Amino acid sequence: MRQSDLFTKTRKEAPKDEVSKNAILLTRAGFINKEMAGVYSYLPLGLKVLKKIENIIREEMNALGGKELVLTSLQRKDVWEKVGRWDDKNVDVWFKTKLKDNVELGLGFTHDEQIVNLLTEYVSSYKDLPLYLYQIQTKFRNELRVKSGIMRGREFVMKDLYSFTRTEEEQDEFYEKAKKSYMKVFSRCGIGDITFCTFASGGTFSKYSHEFQTLSLAGEDIIYVDEKKNLAINKDVFDEEGLVTAGLKRDDLVERKSIEVGNIFKQGTKYTDPFNLYYQDENGKKQSILMGGYGIGVTRLMGTVVEVLSDDKGIIWPEEISPFQVHLVSLGNDENVIKLADEIYKTFQKEGIEVLYDDRNVRAGEKFADSDLIGISTRLVIGDKALESKKLEVKDRSSGQTTETDLKSFIKKFKK
Ligand code: ATP
Ligand code: MG
Repeated sequence: MRQSDLFTKTRKEAPKDEVSKNAILLTRAGFINKEMAGVYSYLPLGLKVLKKIENIIREEMNALGGKELVLTSLQRKDVWEKVGRWDDKNVDVWFKTKLKDNVELGLGFTHDEQIVNLLTEYVSSYKDLPLYLYQIQTKFRNELRVKSGIMRGREFVMKDLYSFTRTEEEQDEFYEKAKKSYMKVFSRCGIGDITFCTFASGGTFSKYSHEFQTLSLAGEDIIYVDEKKNLAINKDVFDEEGLVTAGLKRDDLVERKSIEVGNIFKQGTKYTDPFNLYYQDENGKKQSILMGGYGIGVTRLMGTVVEVLSDDKGIIWPEEISPFQVHLVSLGNDENVIKLADEIYKTFQKEGIEVLYDDRNVRAGEKFADSDLIGISTRLVIGDKALESKKLEVKDRSSGQTTETDLKSFIKKFKK
């Protein structure tokens, strides 16, 4: 994409009504636009990052045997009443609406009940199980406080995977596999080294659940980390019983602020039994189905990356989720420089290298400042030097280091 075609412009000033670093940087760089508190549009640059994160998650969920589907956002009241979650007293984040004939509907804040209700039409035999289904879609929650930019939205993207298993062993085996696959997702998004699998409350089946918490002062959570074991425990369950269950010792732990980027929990038969979702075993005997829920806050994950991987100049995207692989920047008005940069741009397009080409007729300083703000992982600068020596200047956004290369080896490295 040519930067002169990008309709969004970078801004020097932070938006007046934003306090979080992720919203300030993402707005200034042209990734998102605020519609109202907790509700953001994703502009072309932002959408590229969001889709890359979604695809990483998709690949890892598919590797777990997950099948993707899309459920509805408009949801039936009677389905929600089955386990008692329609009542505003039990769920305080509801957005509800009505049809013209006054029939009440809910706007999905999650899809636990919906998926179980749906499966009653398809699952009845031991042969239908185990089953792993997931969706990546918008959820609506009327959150009380939304000061954390895209990390806490009233409309946001979540990945939810649901497991349906026959036995505890089958469930536990999948649960452990899911833990590993979650860590892979966070590593690929560049935050693996500061994200901890954390003991937490909230499991229906086993009393405990696990959260994935990324260390950050911008976080709303408090966790206690064992850096050697790469494990942590949430403040909610930080007592003798919790510590014993987690296999952690008080003295080995340090208190940290963190962001919950995902969670996994065993729900047992909390939803399946009330919906009469059972299966017949090999002997024709009716059996309960164990359910598990595995969430990742997709847009929150994007905001988290910005919170933890940025500097005073702007965002620092990890390679795998950088909006483009390369930021090609031409310097000056020299006809031959422009010609060379144009040629390189066309070559990249032909070779399938994703490139943002700053072809604008503006000062070098402005181009570099914008490039730092947008944060594409690799920058390729084309100026007089490139013309004279045939050597191209490559700058790594994360380390700030500049190296020289020739076009051929650069293409070889970045070609998919
Ligand atoms: P929190 O305690 O932060 O409100 P939660 O316990 O309500 O999270 P879940 O309902 O389990 O979260 O949702 C799964 C994941 O979705 C969370 O781990 C988090 O990453 C993300 N998430 C939850 N609420 C929001 C929100 N309002 N905006 C963006 N992401 C969210
Ligand atoms: Mg919540």
